[in-house]
Amino acid sequence: MSLDDNELPRTEDEWRVRLTPEEFHVLREHGTERPWVGEYVDTKTQGVYHCRACGLELFSSDTKFDSHCGWPSFDDAIPGRVKEIEDRSLGMARTEIRCARCDSHLGHVFHGEGFTPKDTRHCVNSISVRLEPR
Ligand SMILES: [Zn+2]
Repeated sequence: MSLDDNELPRTEDEWRVRLTPEEFHVLREHGTERPWVGEYVDTKTQGVYHCRACGLELFSSDTKFDSHCGWPSFDDAIPGRVKEIEDRSLGMARTEIRCARCDSHLGHVFHGEGFTPKDTRHCVNSISVRLEPR
């Protein structure tokens, strides 16, 4: 599924009918799937990860790495496709990441953990994205 900008839902009710209850909870209500259960945690397949809500290309499999945190992790996003928002929920200062086009919740981004040379971890819910194999 890939939507044109003028096809994007305008209201949460419109999103609700397009997404499964689980997808809606994570993408539109900023939920978090449990660690290790997501379908892409250990995926090594080459391809591009798209926003599950609107279809925008977000992450290349080239940037995916094993963080052993229980969620798919990427050390970079496709430029301009992911926006960062300060998140102070749960008593922590974190940076939320959302799809730049449809504003759906993807996960959080962390810096300074030393996993890769880029020193960045986009921690993404599997259910927020869909892999299109190359
Ligand atoms: Zn999107």
